[in-house]
Amino acid sequence: MTTIETSSALDLLEDRELLRELAFVNGEWVGADDGGTFEVRDPASGRVLAEVPVFGATETTRALDAAGAAFETWGTTLAKERAAILRRWADLMRDNSEDLSLILTAEQGKPLSESRGEVEYAASFLEWFGEEAKRVYGDVIPTPMEGRRIVVFKEPLGVTGGITPWNFPSAMVTRKCAPAVAAGNTMVLKPAEQTPLSALAVCVLAERAGLPPGVLNVVTTPAEKAQEVGETMTSDPRLRMLGFTGSTEVGKLLMKQCADTVTKVSLELGGNAPFIVFEDADLELALGAMQSCKYRNSGQTCISANRILVQESVHDEFVAMLTDYAAGLVVGSGTEEGSQIGPLIDQQGLDKVERHIANALESGAEIVVGGSPHDRGGLFFQPTVLTGVSPEMDMSCEETFGPVAGIIPFRTEEEAIAIANDTPYGLCAYFFTKDLARAWRVGEALEAGIVGLNTGFVSTEVAPFGGVKQSGIGREGSKYGIEEWVDTKYFTFAGL
Ligand code: NAP
Repeated sequence: MTTIETSSALDLLEDRELLRELAFVNGEWVGADDGGTFEVRDPASGRVLAEVPVFGATETTRALDAAGAAFETWGTTLAKERAAILRRWADLMRDNSEDLSLILTAEQGKPLSESRGEVEYAASFLEWFGEEAKRVYGDVIPTPMEGRRIVVFKEPLGVTGGITPWNFPSAMVTRKCAPAVAAGNTMVLKPAEQTPLSALAVCVLAERAGLPPGVLNVVTTPAEKAQEVGETMTSDPRLRMLGFTGSTEVGKLLMKQCADTVTKVSLELGGNAPFIVFEDADLELALGAMQSCKYRNSGQTCISANRILVQESVHDEFVAMLTDYAAGLVVGSGTEEGSQIGPLIDQQGLDKVERHIANALESGAEIVVGGSPHDRGGLFFQPTVLTGVSPEMDMSCEETFGPVAGIIPFRTEEEAIAIANDTPYGLCAYFFTKDLARAWRVGEALEAGIVGLNTGFVSTEVAPFGGVKQSGIGREGSKYGIEEWVDTKYFTFAGL
């Protein structure tokens, strides 16, 4: 990768203790047994930011041992005490928001303003699930038999695992570890190769908040060892649950691995979100939503609008508005004032964006704005709008994960719903209309775990996040989120 000369966000850190180059096991900061490390790079400049340990099977097993031992105490710690620690942890994330945002921007590339939003979102899961810890209620069920009583307990599972992606390096970590530890479990977590520094910074604050050793362990490793670490986790009979966020392909592989030990899974996988603009929509509202669900994080989110369906009668008007908007977006490194579009995560990501555009052009689409790597070079790509996109093109079938909006025209509501649902994925869907009857009809007809009407922003800790079809199993956030991390025990008293 070529190197571009810019200052690193890490140069601006106030508390350099938050930047760790060691993994976190049993409350200790440790290296790999053989001292091996891999580089973490700034996608905006290509510069090496840090080197973190290459963990393999042996070190991962040690982390599982630590989580197993810690469960002995943590599993029976009062919910009230667990909640207090999670609350302190959330407060510390907020107190250190600026430094955490700088670390996040340095390794992931998103604009600093977006990193600040993500850190707040990450802290919100610690706060929310700390509160939920006190409300993991059971049941008393009226008995159908004389001399009996029936009660139901919710119990922690034990040792759990988390595997997280690079696109939300802070929030995906707390969206897993917060419900897990709030419910009394312990966890071994593996962050993505590109973004381990945010996960490690979250551990520094966990330690400061008083989370006991071994309750949360973070194992770092590069992509070529991810399978080894994943297999070590999933083949260990102590692992009772795996929470994974990432691609559908890797999610399926992990689900198969978990079958051998009948380990529970919660999978947040890839999406292919439709974004439908009906002729009776407020077009300004729809345009505003494109920032949050298309160009945010340079389009690298699982709930990115991937297929923009626009009704024929408003097609030209909406395309003109979107073109003006995209042309005005500021491309720059995350710490540059006013930057709205950061770099893509790596060369593979940029190659995929170019491949999708080339495929669309070959099949008859046209570029209205953008369409090429940005003049800044490196991993920067121009905000792009394409018209004449059809549902068969690669960009309509796979996540593009770039700042590219492909417009698919449609005539009728039925046609729009049919196109929207014609995908193996079902994470999120957006639509825009002012017609109340249509709002209900379309909202109910869309095959997605999350539906946004007249908005492009759906993420909050209080609502259940997750997909249907091949976008996943299970929900994160909300009162439903903690249910994934507990077992239900039916306890019957007889002979009364
Ligand atoms: P990915 O390649 O599936 O990687 C995700 C995580 O899995 C990384 O930590 C990765 O480690 C690890 N991994 C890869 N192969 C593995 C294996 N064989 N065994 C164990 N772990 C393995 O996905 P990504 O490209 O990083 O992330 C983008 C994907 O995540 C997109 O599809 C996006 O839609 C999805 N996503 C979904 C949600 C949601 O909530 N539904 C949220 C965010 C992202 P390495 O980094 O070391 O390879």
